[in-house]
Amino acid sequence: MNFIADRLKRIKPSMTVGINVKANALRAEGKDVLVLAAGEPDFDTPLNIRKAAVTAMEEGQTRYVPGKGTPALQKAIQSKFLKDNNLHYDLDEIIVGVGGKHIIYNAMMATINPEDEVIIPAPFWVSYPDIVLLAEGKPIIVPCPEDQNFKLTADQLEKSITDKTKWLMLNSPSNPTGSLYSKQELQKLADVLLKYPQVLIMSDDIYEKVIYDDLEFSTIASVEPKLKDRCLTLNGVSKSYCMTGWRLGYCGAPKEIITAMNKIQSQSTTSTSSISMAASVEALNGIQDFIGEHNQAFVRRRDLVVNLLNQIDGLSCLTPQGAFYVYPSCAGVIGKVTPDGQKISNDEDFMSYLLEREGIAGVHGAAFGLSPYFRLSYATSDEILTDACARIKRACEQLK
Ligand code: PMP
Ligand code: GLU
Repeated sequence: MNFIADRLKRIKPSMTVGINVKANALRAEGKDVLVLAAGEPDFDTPLNIRKAAVTAMEEGQTRYVPGKGTPALQKAIQSKFLKDNNLHYDLDEIIVGVGGKHIIYNAMMATINPEDEVIIPAPFWVSYPDIVLLAEGKPIIVPCPEDQNFKLTADQLEKSITDKTKWLMLNSPSNPTGSLYSKQELQKLADVLLKYPQVLIMSDDIYEKVIYDDLEFSTIASVEPKLKDRCLTLNGVSKSYCMTGWRLGYCGAPKEIITAMNKIQSQSTTSTSSISMAASVEALNGIQDFIGEHNQAFVRRRDLVVNLLNQIDGLSCLTPQGAFYVYPSCAGVIGKVTPDGQKISNDEDFMSYLLEREGIAGVHGAAFGLSPYFRLSYATSDEILTDACARIKRACEQLK
């Protein structure tokens, strides 16, 4: 008997979630594993946000709440978009979901017809193509090499658009590369998109506040206001406010799309938790000082890791502008042989070797659609990062 629906054959489980769970399980068994696979800040949710959740519980905010978000949260999101992004969304153009991932899922389910195409620049966050496939769409993967900083060019975009294109996925700063699109780069993409009115744009801004070197964040709907009625501007509290476990994401988008997403939500999750909503009101409206403090730690760790990785023969690593990942090339170790006689044929082999030999858990580049690379998260202590780079160096030196 096969009880499982055919649609599940189209997708695979999330590699980032899977590798992280596996690595943490090895650690729990007592194995000496350094987990650099996680896609979350290592800081706790700030105390004022946790206290707001406790107050909400004590005050009895424990019943069903509107699927699109409580009035207080909707207003907080509306002000956030205006203040940070110079974008005005009416309240019926805003929806809250169970994480940014859920917003993307609902948006794709709400808009994609079979065979509709979704342009996904690679490397991409692992979930984009699988969510598109689940919605019966067709991911169109566009490789964006290292020499263009892993970013999509206007020319590549124009060549990828067809009559069937429904969405373009943009993610800046990017998971897994940390690359940031400048205002000028977004304007060039926008100039192409203005010619193709059938294309919607998903701007995944979840790492908006994790940016370094005084660089400026831009989002496409505000760079080119003529595109706003085709943009879904996605954000959430997971990364900026260290709230990955609270499961809350949100977006601003045209009313028609929000209404359709809410219809799905009303027949599936109803809403995210009322307590997470109360905590997120405090996150968005409360003090923001800790974001700068966290970024100071992240940038120090970024510089540490990039510097150490670039001293390893066989690896080379660009300096990311945001998020908390590095995406080094491992081209120089491909084709080499391990002390056990195994050939390293690709980045997945290399990551298996690092895990087995030195207990380093990272994610191979093929999962993000561009090889031969691998992703390490530097959202962990300087000591662990220094130890990890020393182990990676030792592992690489043992390859023949
Ligand atoms: N987009 C990107 C690029 C991400 O890395 C993540 C992290 N999981 C998400 C969206 C979704 O995050 P969440 O569901 O926790 O809001
Ligand atoms: N986005 C994070 C990552 O890329 C968290 C895991 C996930 O939801 O995929 O690792």
